[in-house]
Amino acid sequence: MPDLPPRDDSLRAALHGVRGLLLDLDGVLVLKGAAVPGAPEALAALERVGFPYLVVTNTSLVSRATLARWGRSVGFATPADRFQSALTASAELAGREFAGRPVYVITSDDARAEFDGLAVLDAAAVDAALAEGRDVAAVILGDSPDQLTRETLNRAFRLVLRGAVLVGMHRNPWWLTPEGPTLDAGTFLVGLEWATKRKARTVGKPDPAFFRVAAERMATGASARGEPRLLRHHLAMVGDDVFNDIGGGRRAGLRTVFVRTGKHGDAELAEAARGVRGYRPDAVAPSIAEVVAALVG
Ligand SMILES: [Mg+2]
Repeated sequence: MPDLPPRDDSLRAALHGVRGLLLDLDGVLVLKGAAVPGAPEALAALERVGFPYLVVTNTSLVSRATLARWGRSVGFATPADRFQSALTASAELAGREFAGRPVYVITSDDARAEFDGLAVLDAAAVDAALAEGRDVAAVILGDSPDQLTRETLNRAFRLVLRGAVLVGMHRNPWWLTPEGPTLDAGTFLVGLEWATKRKARTVGKPDPAFFRVAAERMATGASARGEPRLLRHHLAMVGDDVFNDIGGGRRAGLRTVFVRTGKHGDAELAEAARGVRGYRPDAVAPSIAEVVAALVG
């Protein structure tokens, strides 16, 4: 495997028994709009040997089809069906819990495609519903540089005051973009919680349901391949976020690997490990490339 770094035997020992990977996207595979060095080769190696993986991401900016297309442009061959995002999980929740009832979704036009078939109101329809006192079941908040405005947030605020359920695709406070640290949708979600005195439901990582869906997909795949039953501890969540990936993954019963290529560094990792919740990953690796080399190298 010439594209992978040399195999680290202590990492290999820490990952013993791992039969599938759940990979965070931002900070693990990509950062600031570009591929993390070695990550495309690492995913290509997984594909080559048929090692199962899913990309599990809190990104709510774009649809899976757009994620896959964009991935190809920076060197990844990951197909759309290998992504599970906070956006797609939110659309599934809306289909399950608010089917046939009108919802207001703050997200980009591209991301809204994941909600096809649901009764998603546009701004004018929300304003009419507010004016006429008609019921709107939920407000679903994702990230969108264009759509997260004072105007849309006020619309959401008024709907929640009137009884709509507040749903956050995730509650990430910030992320790294080419412009530097950038506010994410979670910051605005907390603002709405504060203003309405309602607690939002959140859908993406670290919600246990998000990991459960991913683990079930991996287990179904293993069973279809005729492999022994795949349990949670056969899966490793690889992430750069000590709370969402490491803390959330641990609580869901997964193995966890922290990589140093993202927004959280060793200082956050050490602080999280000292905290009452004691977020300690099973392994720490320089990047996804070393993780993959330890498993398939
Ligand atoms: Mg991340």
